[in-house]
Amino acid sequence: MRALVVNPQQRSVRIVERPEPHSPREDEVLLRVLDVGICGTDREIGSFEYGTPPDGMQEFVLGHEALAEIKAVGPAVTLFRTGELVVPTVRRPCSSPRCAPCRSGRQDFCITNEFSERGIVRADGFLTDLLLEHERYLIAASNALRDVAVLVEPLSVVCKGAEECALLRERFAFDVPHPRALVLGAGTIGLLAAMTFRADGCETYVFSREPEDGPRGALIAGFGAHYVSSERTSLDDLTRRIGGAADVIFEAVGVPEVAFAALPALAPNGVYVMTGVPSHGKPVSGDLGRWMRDIVLQNQVVVGIVNAGPTAYKQAVRRLEQFLALFPQSIGALIRRVPLNQAPEVINRGRGIKDVVSLA
Ligand SMILES: [Zn+2]
Ligand SMILES: [Zn+2]
Repeated sequence: MRALVVNPQQRSVRIVERPEPHSPREDEVLLRVLDVGICGTDREIGSFEYGTPPDGMQEFVLGHEALAEIKAVGPAVTLFRTGELVVPTVRRPCSSPRCAPCRSGRQDFCITNEFSERGIVRADGFLTDLLLEHERYLIAASNALRDVAVLVEPLSVVCKGAEECALLRERFAFDVPHPRALVLGAGTIGLLAAMTFRADGCETYVFSREPEDGPRGALIAGFGAHYVSSERTSLDDLTRRIGGAADVIFEAVGVPEVAFAALPALAPNGVYVMTGVPSHGKPVSGDLGRWMRDIVLQNQVVVGIVNAGPTAYKQAVRRLEQFLALFPQSIGALIRRVPLNQAPEVINRGRGIKDVVSLA
């Protein structure tokens, strides 16, 4: 079978032949991979800035955003059957007995940093024809989602953010009338976040670099959100341009200068969700006094989100079904498929909003 492997020491990304996995034992499931999405993390791994092979190995299989079909199940598998579609989760627990999150199945909150992540750190990923996975790490997807379920993994991060926003709303004994959401960044995560806010009836604004009359702006207007380009509106002017502060800001740019400069656009009692991971660089300066004053005097919450737990993955499946009903064209427009032999090229340089390697 084919596999796309990265060798950080030799600085190579190539397609190789690997032996097929054994037939599934116990609670193992044999998967035939259909689609694998490529994101910024894969591009960082593909340019050898990030990523760690499993212990004792020189290379590892790339890919962590997958949709697969079940080819065979082990004798102890109870939840799944051959032919069903599934999305494998990414993070696997650490082994420390003191890591309460990992011992409770919430490795997305791991405290030891010794977890593994398929296709990212210390574990093979999904860019291969066949793979084995334990039943407990699989999320069911309906056949209706065949063309879009590769988005479940990135959407699970948005859903984890939404879960935490919902928990934080419970601190109020009152409703927020006409909630407003601001999304920073118009990549896959930003667009999926904007769709989520729209589906929940929020007045939604997306702020990014692309020109306002370009295809990204049209796509955003297509699902009923407003697009604001940094070409025409500075961050200082953002609140005025969108007609008031936002009850939720969802950051998906990974640029600290942009992320913190947008803090004044957060409304009193607002929640700021950060998902971008900035690269290491020089310290960035800013008006720390103003940010601290606002956060304290306006009861604001800033929360970081990485990875997702099982409930967020399941919610992502339901969200995709909802998006397909509400704005099918917008969701379809995110994806651009390429065959496996073109994968090294799209890892090097993206072409669509979400490049998807099709192995089917
Ligand atoms: Zn990703
Ligand atoms: Zn842990």
